[in-house]
Amino acid sequence: MADYPPEITASEEARLTEVIKDWALAHGLTVRPPPALVAAEADPRGILATAVPVTLFPSPFPKICFEQGIAVQKVYNELYASISQDEEFLARMVKEIGDSDEFITDLWKVHLRVKDEGYVQHKSLGLFRSDYMVHQDASGSGPQIKQVEFNTIASSFGGLSSQTSQLHIYLSLTEYPLIERAIPRDTLTLPPNTSAAGLASGIKEAFISYGASTTGHSKCVIFLIQEGERNIFDQKHLEYSLQSSTNPIIPVFRLPFSQIEEHTYIANGAGRQLLYTPPHLPTRTFEVAVIYMRSGYGPGDYPDARAWEGRYHLERSAAIKCPSILTQIAGTKKVQQVLASPTTPSNPSIIGQYLSSSSSSSVSALASTFTNIYPLDTSEAGMKARAIAMDPELCKGYVLKPQREGGGNNIYRGAIPPFLESVPEAHWPSYILMELITPPPVRNMILRNGELEQGGVICELGIYGTCLWDQKAKTISHNEQVGYLLRTKGDQSEEGGVAAGFGCMDSCTLV
Ligand code: ADP
Ligand code: MG
Repeated sequence: MADYPPEITASEEARLTEVIKDWALAHGLTVRPPPALVAAEADPRGILATAVPVTLFPSPFPKICFEQGIAVQKVYNELYASISQDEEFLARMVKEIGDSDEFITDLWKVHLRVKDEGYVQHKSLGLFRSDYMVHQDASGSGPQIKQVEFNTIASSFGGLSSQTSQLHIYLSLTEYPLIERAIPRDTLTLPPNTSAAGLASGIKEAFISYGASTTGHSKCVIFLIQEGERNIFDQKHLEYSLQSSTNPIIPVFRLPFSQIEEHTYIANGAGRQLLYTPPHLPTRTFEVAVIYMRSGYGPGDYPDARAWEGRYHLERSAAIKCPSILTQIAGTKKVQQVLASPTTPSNPSIIGQYLSSSSSSSVSALASTFTNIYPLDTSEAGMKARAIAMDPELCKGYVLKPQREGGGNNIYRGAIPPFLESVPEAHWPSYILMELITPPPVRNMILRNGELEQGGVICELGIYGTCLWDQKAKTISHNEQVGYLLRTKGDQSEEGGVAAGFGCMDSCTLV
């Protein structure tokens, strides 16, 4: 693949730019325009959409690594479903993170309040995404994927990623064969990608599993969202996919996180059904079967006590949460660090105890995706990690992460020592220190806001999984791997968030 993607002429660049822009707009491969592109005053009614940043060509990705990610996803789903059921373990994690992390502490308090009262809903839905980068070590063994993080809340881009795969398939049939350095049809290996339909079918499973309405109201699904969400079409693809797969159509409503208590209430009686009256249908009431959260993952959604009451209100209700608080906590970087840490030299980790078929092959398949992650506490491993983190040279191979989601929170390389110096040492255990994965260099071109960026890129693979389980019975009724995401960023950028403006959408051509 030395000459891939091919060099293209200026007029070919212009042609591809045009074709991609139109395809993206016509197929909803779109976001609301960033304020830097269209000022809020210029679009007061929010009627505009713009093509999402995307690569001109699918990036080459090692087939063996892609297959490795696909193969472990169902085991990862089971692992995180089981961890969500281990309240005692999660309580220990919250304690280790410590009081200095108010957000995690407050989430835990909500769980404890509901636990006191008793949960009425034991079913729990996970729409997960496990993120990886390719790692090639010096030993000469083949490339392997290493896990960046595991997402248990608001795992995004499943709606846009299947569209991106479709775009690249379209270009491989229509445009790439025609450029001067042609890529003939059928020379790229573009894996099928049904992430949108797959995630939607996870929600549908939970909707069915909720059972019949017991309040006499029709059932519905709520997408719990952030107001002003720019990545709305990603979510809309899931909504449309869910609706088109069911007859009669499942009613889906979008509820801003800040309006939970305004528009929902809990039915009288022991059932604690969650009832929702849409503001545009004041005479109609629905019984909420599933709450799919695309918000609530960071402190920004909880500006005051009322917002926390809203989360509590949902958590104690009978609606199936995606995710519950326990599942959200299972997705913290602290949990990832503990899972990735060897317990004894011969024992790769505690993961075996969480897998039903804890065959050594599933344990080692998962363990092969771990990279070194260290605590920053006062244990022996923690003290070693502190020394690395404070060393002006050694720190250059690491990233420091707080217990946060959604991008833009990590501290990289040389910025780690001065950052830690600015934080009281008592708070250090709320961070983890992770070895940087340095994937082999790839070239590509990114089309962002109508302009082309060219050069070295770094690709991050995400594999989606859906899982439905019973916290009390400790049984899993649904476990699927459902499509993938490839996110690509310029190799000068540390963070890869597409919504945050660093990364772009991509798809894989397997090599
Ligand atoms: P968030 O929850 O904010 O998405 P991540 O752990 O996914 O946090 O980190 C954000 C980004 O930082 C990733 O998408 C990736 O580009 C980069 N990153 C994180 N960890 C590593 C790592 N160990 N090696 C290389 N890059 C990393
Ligand atoms: Mg991430």
